[in-house]
Amino acid sequence: MRDLFSGYLNLHNLDRTLVLDILAAWRAGSVGGIPERMIACAPDQVRISPDIWTQNECLTNLVLPAFEAAIKLPDLWNTIGTETEFSTLATECDGLPHTVDRGPDQPVLIALNWEGSPDDVICLAHEVAHAVQIILSDHKQMPPLAREVCAFLGELLVIAHARTAAPDLYPTLCDVWRRENDDYLGSDIDLLAVALADPQAQYHYRQNYPVARLAAIELFNRGSGEWLRQFFASGRDGMRHIPIEKLANRAGDIANYLPAMPRSEPETPAIDAYRSLGAMALIDIDYWEGQSETRIEDYYADLLRHLQDQTAFVALNEQRKPIGYATWSKSALGGGCTLTRQAAPFGDHLALQRALERHLGDMAGMTARHNRSARQEQVAW
Ligand SMILES: [Zn+2]
Repeated sequence: MRDLFSGYLNLHNLDRTLVLDILAAWRAGSVGGIPERMIACAPDQVRISPDIWTQNECLTNLVLPAFEAAIKLPDLWNTIGTETEFSTLATECDGLPHTVDRGPDQPVLIALNWEGSPDDVICLAHEVAHAVQIILSDHKQMPPLAREVCAFLGELLVIAHARTAAPDLYPTLCDVWRRENDDYLGSDIDLLAVALADPQAQYHYRQNYPVARLAAIELFNRGSGEWLRQFFASGRDGMRHIPIEKLANRAGDIANYLPAMPRSEPETPAIDAYRSLGAMALIDIDYWEGQSETRIEDYYADLLRHLQDQTAFVALNEQRKPIGYATWSKSALGGGCTLTRQAAPFGDHLALQRALERHLGDMAGMTARHNRSARQEQVAW
């Protein structure tokens, strides 16, 4: 049996809501921009690399000096020479380039093909970063998401180093990095969003890439320092170094563009109900938690039932703009309620919670669906 995506989230101590917030922040352009140190590299500067290095020349002239400088490892060349082994991908069965930890008694295996293209330089940087992370972590296995952050950081360190060490190559490397975002922050985000919407979704390795890519950009913008070496050496504790909550909180920077709701009119309750339905649909379109992909008739019937049962609530801010909504089910036994959905696409989770508490008064026994939230203010949920 294959692993479930929910098990993957537990392994990384990741809360679904935070990952959804990170994706919302990315869609709004609050995270994942081109790193400041690479902005000067405009696409029209792209040139083809004038001289093609061998894999070993690229390793010696660019990749290892970049890591040595950033991670402060003076003897990295010797370490890589003795503790890694390179091989090629001979057949299609070998799949994509990869790095394998075969345990402390054997060299780390780096498998890739080399033709000297700028894509190959980025690939070499990525796989060598994996190897450096395995060696510095003393072969204590890092969770996959943290491992990929190291590899993406390695790519960025090498690109930044090329600016002075290989200026002719630098624009093409920037171009490869931007092009690869089409997958890592394109199709891979779709894959991740589908898994986040389905509690029974299967785990797939590519689900690591979007958050890892965004976290690597965030960490790269910090500049180098002792923290970088500590991160690469952190092994099983790798996730402690990933700024998950910081990225998720950027969702709070997203401007709420929804129009203000008119005051309710007691003599026309149906108009109020339609307005609430419309507000919930607009919030779901932004929140992307699967709801915007459900069939419209199922979606409508579900929300209408909640409105009729008075188990739905739209929270407004001071300007009466909708900031989020919640639905719940009443327990058949006793007076308890279970929250079935909370959506706050503009980062207003706390305000939604407070408004909901006021709405429900002192209703006892509220239990949360997402009670594992890593955010302190959501512990009560
Ligand atoms: Zn990788």
